[in-house]
Amino acid sequence: MRAVLHFHQIRLRRTSGVQTMATDILSQSDMLDPRIAAVVEQLNDRPELAGIVEQLLKMDGPALARARRSIAKAKVAPPAAPLIDVDFLHLLRDLPPAVESARLRAREFMDREVEPIANDYWERAEFPYHLIPEFASLDLLSSIFPVAADGTVSHDSVAEGILTMELARVDCSFATFLGVHGGLAFGSILLCGSQAQQDEWLPRMRKWEVLGAFGLTEPDVGSGVAGGITTTCRRDGDTWILNGEKRWIGNSTFGDFVVVWARDLADQQVKGFIVETTLPGYSVRKMDGKIAQRTLQNGHITLDRVRVTEANRLQRANSFKDVARVLGMTRVGVAWIAVGCAAGAYERALAYAQRRTQFGRPLGSFQLIQSMLVKMVGKLASMQALALQVSRLQNAGLCEEHHSALAKQVCAAQCREVVALARESMGGNGILLDHSVARFFADAEAIYSYEGSNEINTLIVGRALTGHGAFV
Ligand SMILES: Cc1cc2nc3c(=O)[nH]c(=O)nc-3n(C[C@H](O)[C@H](O)[C@H](O)COP(=O)(O)OP(=O)(O)OC[C@H]3O[C@@H](n4cnc5c(N)ncnc54)[C@H](O)[C@@H]3O)c2cc1C
Repeated sequence: MRAVLHFHQIRLRRTSGVQTMATDILSQSDMLDPRIAAVVEQLNDRPELAGIVEQLLKMDGPALARARRSIAKAKVAPPAAPLIDVDFLHLLRDLPPAVESARLRAREFMDREVEPIANDYWERAEFPYHLIPEFASLDLLSSIFPVAADGTVSHDSVAEGILTMELARVDCSFATFLGVHGGLAFGSILLCGSQAQQDEWLPRMRKWEVLGAFGLTEPDVGSGVAGGITTTCRRDGDTWILNGEKRWIGNSTFGDFVVVWARDLADQQVKGFIVETTLPGYSVRKMDGKIAQRTLQNGHITLDRVRVTEANRLQRANSFKDVARVLGMTRVGVAWIAVGCAAGAYERALAYAQRRTQFGRPLGSFQLIQSMLVKMVGKLASMQALALQVSRLQNAGLCEEHHSALAKQVCAAQCREVVALARESMGGNGILLDHSVARFFADAEAIYSYEGSNEINTLIVGRALTGHGAFV
């Protein structure tokens, strides 16, 4: 190589860069051995080679021969694989030690126990009940709802978000399972229950000794629940009688209780009840045929003159505004499920792009595939930053309904775009369950629609911006 370079009187110009050098060489490439010309052409992409070429030029014949022998003997290490991880912006760097420890417990559990079976349970639309005891032992709810020395329970939205993201990154249904029990049901009792109700239910919920669900949506009333709940409650002495139907209720097929929201026939206001699933008149059937979050068990509940004690009426829920307070708290968590879903799809697409070859080269070496990966990671980074900031606002007591609605709306929409890119980047395997991205692709559809569809959250933010409610 030295001889060839000297023959062509190539000057190494470090100041103007290796690109100029390569250009000089290539301008004479008709005289070059084609193999050497190909190597020289690569110099344009490999500025670090400039130093190596410079060293080679200084070597005499014996030194070059020694170098050649040593290169021939050396084992060529494959290029180090980039870390496949969602944390492009180093969001996880400064987590409090207790939250970081919970995150690592969650990640280890999800990778070890859930990842290997996630596609199988999804396909069979079954929930891996056998994992609940170990999942409970991770004690994630103590990070999400820390208890102060005086016994006060608070909500750490950042912890909730990071942990939710970790679960969704492997299985969105698992994240929703947590979000229903440890967000909607726990949050309803925390925000709307009396101290006695909190003392009775929250410690057992924290340990997953009782499992909760949240019943707001009805067969004929979804987005319009604010003014349209048809399930009724009527006071009868020290009890209430509930009638109606609830649909889509996560965890309700096997949970111990459902927080049911019903309209009081006396004052027309919405009230909340802790309805134990063993009560006479309560029945539930599993909803089949979902194409998203199939592992999550959704139920269609019928309440036929179910009698609930006054002690189980949420004492601080007096109107739909209280339901909105609960949803305002949990919607940020749904934004984080979207982040985790997108992260799971992106990470798998990146790994696939590194391992799959076409035309003799890894997919990841093609510009168009890189473009998809960059779009994915860019959307992910912006979703994470938005969700994190809204969680921080929530922890500071500054989060308003439109903040959490914006986080949910943007993250769910971007999630849909990320999973579509991930799917596309994997060709046919992108629609095959075996490679998992197909599961994330489908699961994103549920995230897009639940806890306020994209349109409803858009309208919440639109109302905050303009002062005009455009719901009807
Ligand atoms: C997987 C899953 C889990 C769920 N878990 C629970 C749960 O645990 N508990 C619970 O109570 N509910 C749950 N839901 C229900 C969920 O919250 C509702 O699906 C959601 O609120 C939307 O209601 P809907 O499906 O009835 O759609 P609809 O309200 O019928 O809306 C249909 C379409 O019309 C649009 N739309 C409606 N009104 C307007 C308007 N004013 N302006 C413009 N567009 C409008 C909607 O955005 C949507 O695109 C779950 C749903 C899913 C899919």
